[in-house]
Amino acid sequence: MIPFTLVACNFRYYAHSSSLSHSSPISSSLSHTAFASIEPFFSLLTGIFLSQKMKQFWSPSSINKNKAMVENLQNHGIVTSDEVAKAMEAVDRGVFVTDRSSAYVDSPMSIGYNVTISAPHMHAMCLQLLEKHLKPGMRVLDVGSGTGYLTACFAVMVGTEGRAIGVEHIPELVASSVKNIEASAASPFLKEGSLAVHVGDGRQGWAEFAPYDAIHVGAAAPEIPEALIDQLKPGGRLVIPVGNIFQDLQVVDKNSDGSVSIKDETSVRYVPLTSREAQLRGD
Ligand code: SAH
Repeated sequence: MIPFTLVACNFRYYAHSSSLSHSSPISSSLSHTAFASIEPFFSLLTGIFLSQKMKQFWSPSSINKNKAMVENLQNHGIVTSDEVAKAMEAVDRGVFVTDRSSAYVDSPMSIGYNVTISAPHMHAMCLQLLEKHLKPGMRVLDVGSGTGYLTACFAVMVGTEGRAIGVEHIPELVASSVKNIEASAASPFLKEGSLAVHVGDGRQGWAEFAPYDAIHVGAAAPEIPEALIDQLKPGGRLVIPVGNIFQDLQVVDKNSDGSVSIKDETSVRYVPLTSREAQLRGD
């Protein structure tokens, strides 16, 4: 078990769930075990479910490690639905990071520009929270899409009839995320147009394809941007970390009359949703 102070200090800029201020058994057991259970990832090399289509994107060893990562998340009760498991199995996390050897470890990793790819358990938690809003044909917006990993998972879930839109304000990250997606099982969605990644300030959302069934924000906002609520469909759900030093992952549901219900899911630590200049200065 790793004490929170150690985790917090080591992961200054990292997105992960904290072990302090939430009482959900899943989250609290996760926050400890997420950092303490690296070894079992590599001992869980088990049977493989793969369509022929997915196989072309993977080497046998990355298939096993990615599959083992998903199984570990299932064993900890973080991945609970078949749809999320299938999407995470299909999209090999290894092609989204430069250090492939650490790709399947449950930890955030630097991706340059003062930001990180979130830890697998945070990606999994957000996919689970949004799952009912990621059915085939639905529209999803991924704000702060970074490596493109989650955008790719979203695209696999909503399929060719749906739309998965990433918005990221660092042009170099958008360019590399497109390359990552091209090397992943989500490549066909990019080619055929149901998946796209744009350079932009995600605080404005992406009006072109609004309203969205699901909006995910991968960086912490001081407060919920109005544009994101406006671009949410009635019945839709926004998942967003909110706060500065102390942050909560908030789940915002838009009701049919346009009002919103907001619930705190868990305490988290994400990089800020900010201006490009402030991020590059490291503010
Ligand atoms: N979810 C992604 C990235 C998480 S890091 C992944 O796991 O790969 C947060 C991302 O948000 C970074 O890539 C950062 O550049 C981006 N970001 C921060 N503020 C932003 C803004 N105002 N508009 C768009 N992207 C932003």
